[in-house]
Amino acid sequence: MTDLDETSPDAILAAAVEDARAVLLDLAGASDFGDHLAVYREDDLVVTHTFACTRPGYLGWHWSVTLTRDADSSKATVNEAVLLPGAEAIVAPSWVPYKERLQPGDLSPGDLLPVEDEDVRLVPTYSFGDDPLDADAKAQVRQVAKDLGLGRVRTLSVEGTDMAAERWYAGDGGPEAPIAKSAPDSCYTCGFLVRLAGPLSDTFGVCANGNANDDGKVVTVNHGCGAHSEVKLARKQQPIPVPDHVFDTLTDDEFVSL
Ligand code: SF4
Repeated sequence: MTDLDETSPDAILAAAVEDARAVLLDLAGASDFGDHLAVYREDDLVVTHTFACTRPGYLGWHWSVTLTRDADSSKATVNEAVLLPGAEAIVAPSWVPYKERLQPGDLSPGDLLPVEDEDVRLVPTYSFGDDPLDADAKAQVRQVAKDLGLGRVRTLSVEGTDMAAERWYAGDGGPEAPIAKSAPDSCYTCGFLVRLAGPLSDTFGVCANGNANDDGKVVTVNHGCGAHSEVKLARKQQPIPVPDHVFDTLTDDEFVSL
């Protein structure tokens, strides 16, 4: 039986560098790998050898050959041989589900974007308490909402409301937008602000000034722009009056006929 040390790699497997090299020679070819880099313990009788990767285009990658053996045998067998990226390797960015990648404006006419039943932004139009609803209960909710004529099966949840508020507040219609920073007054006092109803009404409204950048968009009451309904130009900012036309009644105009 082998006397095992819990911190160091198995001595027989650690010495089997040439066995690991032979694996790579078979797998990748002599031109694709270089020097032996390191050996480390994976488990009692499992050891990994790493080799430099010289394959073009794989800067920062390394080969990893994992060997194992039976406790009663000194013969190493191959567990795994793979090419792995190191800290400096150029790798593809982590995959992000399409729903998290979608941005406003990505939907084209005809595209469908279903909302999951468990979407935290929505709750049934009337609540069944905190118990999670099974599929049958959800079907009942939909049916009752339809029968009662509530119109919408689901409405914005508190989380959904908060998420929208945070997004809008931090966006182009919020108080930090450059146009708001230099505005003469806030939307709160602007005649073009259409008030919202509901929990967001204290903070948000919709701009209804067709000449403003934010026309038709949600703005915070502390947003603002230069198209504010009460904005007045200072005397020096007013256009210079153009004198009346002078009509020449003494000389004839010359006309050129073609
Ligand atoms: S015109 Fe300007 S100040 Fe008035 S509501 Fe629209 S964004 Fe606000």
